[in-house]
Amino acid sequence: MQRLIFILFTFLTFSFNDKNDGKEQIIFDRIEFIFNLKQTIQKDVWESFTDKQFDVPLIYFTDTSSYVVNPTDKFLTTFKSKLVFENRQIKIYKTEQRVDSLPFHMETGLTSRKQTDEYNYHSPFMRCSSYEEVFKKIPDVLSTEEWVTMIMHEYFHGFQFKHPTYMDYYEKNIVQVQPDSLINIYNNNSWFKNLIDKENETLLKSLSEPNSAKTEKLIDTFFKIRSQRRIETKQRVKLDIANYEKCFETMEGTARYVEFSIYNKFSTMPPDYKLSKSDTSFKSFKKFRNYKIENDKWLYLTEKTTYFYAVGFNMAKLLDKLKIEYRTKLFNEGGLSLEDILINR
Ligand SMILES: [Zn+2]
Repeated sequence: MQRLIFILFTFLTFSFNDKNDGKEQIIFDRIEFIFNLKQTIQKDVWESFTDKQFDVPLIYFTDTSSYVVNPTDKFLTTFKSKLVFENRQIKIYKTEQRVDSLPFHMETGLTSRKQTDEYNYHSPFMRCSSYEEVFKKIPDVLSTEEWVTMIMHEYFHGFQFKHPTYMDYYEKNIVQVQPDSLINIYNNNSWFKNLIDKENETLLKSLSEPNSAKTEKLIDTFFKIRSQRRIETKQRVKLDIANYEKCFETMEGTARYVEFSIYNKFSTMPPDYKLSKSDTSFKSFKKFRNYKIENDKWLYLTEKTTYFYAVGFNMAKLLDKLKIEYRTKLFNEGGLSLEDILINR
């Protein structure tokens, strides 16, 4: 069994939330906030993000309980659950037993390959611990809104895997080599690391280059270094990494791109009145008010992050700069990657 690790405003709420003891209100408000934010992303960043066929249920874990939002029928037959909140876009159920006993969740998970009876067989579920539980493990996460950006990154992975051709491509061609293999090559081979860093530097130069002919030249240079490095990798490491690298760059680069778009959104978003009333960890986007990407070098520098996250992220931004449409194509055409789109520009 293979585990894959991987996110409107409506004021219409019905009677359920009147009955809760106040402790649950914060959960409902946070979940509403997340689903409203998904609508914002759909409007401004990734148009199909909230399409019905890409729906991914959310499991929210407190220290003792779990709640599930918009579950599948299979989930409801697997876990006895009670409807506790409902509005126009979400139904929240509380499960009688906690879905599992793991203390920490922040991932999209599904089981694949070998058929099982599990609730998430071929069906991604976003699983997150509450802000309070995440803070215990990662004390750097200082507000609900920062916690939400992590959720959205993971949610985007769920969205990717809801595309059948993408899922199929991943299962048939990628799953046998895990991202760790590439990370190990980067960490253990200075020649590989140096070339990747150089590729990324070239990408960053092409992003900031105002002249379009020079931009094109830089992109050509990027691909030259890249194809040389892959030939060398094949000889020295005995692995043809091209397809894995392209896939991980696309998977993580676009999830990071969505996350970054949320930082930008939060820099101008008005405080959420409803959430601020129930949730003292919600800091009304203060941290993001004067947001500058330069203060988050881990987003785009290969030395400061897992390399294929940064390279993919920079490629997505470069395609924006070149005004090349990629959002409608990615995940709909099997293994099509950011790199494929960039090289065939
Ligand atoms: Zn990710």
